[in-house]
Order: sequence, then C-alpha cells, then structure tokens
Amino acid sequence: MSEKYDVIVIGSGPAGYVAAIRAAQLGLKTACVEKWKNEEGKGVNGGTCLNVGCIPSKALLDSSYKYHEAKEDLGLHGISTSGVEINIPSMIARKNQIIKNLTGGIASLFKANGVTSLFGTGKLLAGKKVEVTDFDGKVTVYEAENVILASGSSPINIPPAPVDNDVIVNSTGALEFTEVPKRLGVIGAGVIGLELGSVWNRVGSKVTVLEALDSFLAIMDQQIAKETQKILTKQGLDIRTSSRVTGSKVNGKEVTVTYLDKDGKEQHETFDKLIVCVGRRPFTENLLAADSGVNLDERGFIFVNEQCETNAPGVWAIGDVVRGPMLAHKGSEEGVMVAERIAGQKSQINYDIIPNVIYTHPEVASVGKTEEQVKASGEPYNVGTFPFAASGRAMAANETHGLVKIIAHAETDRILGCHIVGPSAADLVQQVAIAMEFGSSAEDLGMMVFGHPTLSEAIHEAALAVHGHAIHIANKKKR
Ligand code: FAD
Ligand code: AMP
Repeated sequence: MSEKYDVIVIGSGPAGYVAAIRAAQLGLKTACVEKWKNEEGKGVNGGTCLNVGCIPSKALLDSSYKYHEAKEDLGLHGISTSGVEINIPSMIARKNQIIKNLTGGIASLFKANGVTSLFGTGKLLAGKKVEVTDFDGKVTVYEAENVILASGSSPINIPPAPVDNDVIVNSTGALEFTEVPKRLGVIGAGVIGLELGSVWNRVGSKVTVLEALDSFLAIMDQQIAKETQKILTKQGLDIRTSSRVTGSKVNGKEVTVTYLDKDGKEQHETFDKLIVCVGRRPFTENLLAADSGVNLDERGFIFVNEQCETNAPGVWAIGDVVRGPMLAHKGSEEGVMVAERIAGQKSQINYDIIPNVIYTHPEVASVGKTEEQVKASGEPYNVGTFPFAASGRAMAANETHGLVKIIAHAETDRILGCHIVGPSAADLVQQVAIAMEFGSSAEDLGMMVFGHPTLSEAIHEAALAVHGHAIHIANKKKR
C-alpha cells in the first residue's frame, strides 16, 4: 500500500481538474488520475473538453468563420478580398497548438496548487482505495479519505452507422479531417452535429444533417429553434428532420446512408464523410471494482444525490458521468461544490440556472425554462422579445439575425427563462443568468442602465417588452 490522500480524483476533464485544484486550494492533500494519452503517448489532462470537445471545436468554428467572413461578408464593409484560401492542415495545426497550450496549462495549475498528477487508469476498489495502472502496466494502490469520480462520457455508437474512423467518424474524427469533404453527412441535429456541420459547411462542404425527430432542437424553446433552423438553412445546411438513419454501406471512399423519411419511405444519400453525432453516454468502463459499493442508475450514469454523493460514503461523482446536462461548466461547478463540501463547507449548485450554448453563427443560447416548459407547468407568464434587426449595434456589425426572448412570471415578474439566437448570444445570456441568480424581475432588468450602442441593449429591450415598454420596437402589449 502506498501513499494516502485526502482526495483522489479519477478523471481530469473540466469536472475533475477543477475539483482537484479547488480541493488542493482548501488544503486537502489531492491527487488526480488521468488515462488520456496524446499522440506522443504521453499523459495529458483536460479530458474531452480540452482534447476533443469544447475547445478544439471552437477553434475550428472560429477559423472557419474567419474564412467565411473574409470570402463572403467583407465586401459589404467596402473591403475587397480576392484569392482568399483556407489551408485545412494549418487550421487543424492551429487547433492542436491551442489544445497543447491549454492541456499544458492544467499541468502548471496542478503544480502551482500542489495537486499530484498520476497518469494511468484509476479503478475504485472497496473501502475508498484507488488502484492506478500506469502506462507501463505498473499497478499501485492508494488510499483516500474521499474519492471523486469524474470519468466523463464517450460518443454513442449506433449499429446503422458503425464508425470506421475513415469514412464514418464520430465528433473526434470530425476535428481531424485533412481536406474538405465535398459531400458531408451528419447524423443528429444536436449541439455537436450543428457545430461540426457548420465548420465544414463554411469551408465548402455540402452538408446534409439527418435528424430522427420531427422537430428541430426539440428540447429548446421552439420559437428560437424555428428561427435557428431558418438561419442555418439559409447558410446552406440541408437539415432534414423526421429522417431516421437505418443503415449505411461504405464503398471505397464514400458511404451511402439509408434513412426513413417522414412517410416511413426509405431514402438514400451518398457522402464522402459521415459524422455520427447522436449523443454521448456516461463512461464507466473499468472504473468500478465489483465490490466498490457505487451504484449506477438505469441509464448507466453513476447514481448521485443533489450534492453529488454516491451511495458509497466518501465517494462522490461529478460531470458527464452523472445526471444533468453534459456541459463542461456544469461539471466544473459540481467539482467546486464537492471539493468545498469535503472541506466542510455547505456549498450548493443551482441546477435551474445553467446556461446552454450552441456555437453556430449566430450563436444560440438559453438559460432557465423554455416557453413550452412554463406553459406545461401551468404558471402564468409574460414574454418579451426583441429582434437584433432593431439593434443599432447589430446593424453596425451586420449581425441582424435572431432575437432575444425573455419569459417572466405574470404575477411575481421573476425571470423564468431567456433564449437567444443572435450575435454573441453566449455572452448575452450570461447577463440574464446572473440576473436570475439574484432573483431579478423583468422590471429590474428593464430599470438597469445598459451602455449604448451594445448588443446587450437587446436584453434590456426584451425585458422592457415583457411589460410592453420596449422603446425601439412596436410593443405587442401596450401599457
Ligand atoms: P471528460 O471531459 O470526458 O473527462 C473525463 C476524463 O476522465 C477523460 O480525460 C478520461 O480519459 C478520464 N478517465 C475516464 N476514466 C478514467 C479512469 N478509469 N482512469 C483515469 N482517467 C479516466 N460542453 C460545453 O459546456 N461547451 C461546449 O462548447 C462543448 N462543446 C463540445 C464539443 C464537442 C465536439 C464535444 C464532444 C463535447 C462538447 N462539450 C461542450 C461537452 C463537454 O466536453 C463535456 O461536458 C465535458 O468535457 C465533461 O467533462 P467531464 O470532466 O465530466 O468529462
Ligand atoms: P444530442 O443528444 O444533442 O447530441 O443530439 C443527438 C441527436 O441525434 C438527437 O436529436 C437524436 O434525435 C438524433 N439521432 C439519434 N439517433 C439517430 C438516427 N438513427 N438517425 C438520425 N438522428 C438520430
């Protein structure tokens, strides 16, 4: 038996590494185990988010958008461009450099905070012991007062389209294309499918998105979803809802996909690359010894309560491997909460106020309840909307697509939700999230002074519109 720690974290994604840093800040002797290897076979921290998720996808979204803008949009500003080209290997290399910088940054943060970094596969044994098998196969067993499981998630595979990492890829493969596929198929019109579809659409792929459900972005506010579908379709994404993929046949360097259309008729489409983006599942392979005492729920997530305690005392679980939205910031906040609770604090998370973003252009962002959810709950409510077409700042930037929508309780006026499709929606929605966290009413937000000209004024106006007081748009409701 070797060293004993106050806290051992298994997994160094945004949930695990944040938990480890916070625990160490609080004076707890902390180690973090990670099994991810980079191309050189060396251990790296950062998990899905830094290596194959949030950051690399945003790097490619930004590069591809700059290319698209230089090619298509700058003329409007009087800037003439010609011979604009994109070098895909350079775009990918830039993305890889960002990953390298950020993952290296976690190693530095661990060092600065005194977190011990252990590379290898961690397994929880009975009695809060953690077995670590390093990359050379050497096994060491550590003892811990507390273990935090943060093993994350992995892409879901579907039998009709088995990933071969050549013609059929998952989200990870779609971050590594070395050339632009002429015809690109995407299975699943979720967040990841739309982001990756946008990247390759902007650099020249003809993108077809096949979505099994009959409504687009079914769990989002449907007014915003409809507007988003219109905008993305105009950009060239061929989004086909009610299109369930039932089979695929790879033939050399192309794949023919079979799907059922809304009438249940078989359709076929041939692509040069196919990305399978049908969601992610919790990752618990080889994580738990049979007698670890930790239970999974019926969907394979590690079962936890609101405070992220598993049913084994002293064992916690956070991030994608537990219930709730699979979002980096949700896992990070759980990491902070758990570290602080281990240190004796009474930290909590408000699971009702977790912003959610799709980084298309324009971005789609939401926080709180959708109009459909509020309606279903029977709560009386008011809605205020404001289109970016009426925003001076949006006009100046030629970013006039989309709108801000704020939903408030009709009696208390408390803000229940905010949904945005439009420029900088990710950052705008955070302003409303902060307001909601402080229990703001729509009137409170309407009484705030917003700088001019800013995109944030669209939030101000939407809050005013809740009561029919918007200035720069004709109000539906007059007061
Ligand atoms: P992960 O990041 O999956 O990390 C888990 C880590 O645990 C991994 O490094 C894994 O190797 C390690 N591990 C697992 N088992 C063991 C073991 N037994 N021993 C040692 N190590 C182990 N979310 C957002 O909020 N915003 C976005 O913009 C966004 N974009 C995304 C884009 C893409 C393409 C993808 C795929 C995901 C995106 N996500 C985004 C989701 C986000 O990446 C995840 O929600 C987040 O990474 C989950 O964090 P986590 O720490 O729970 O798990
Ligand atoms: P998300 O969970 O947000 O990543 O979205 C995944 C999407 O993939 C969901 O909207 C699913 O309806 C969709 N999906 C799952 N299986 C299939 C399939 N066989 N064909 C088409 N779409 C699918």
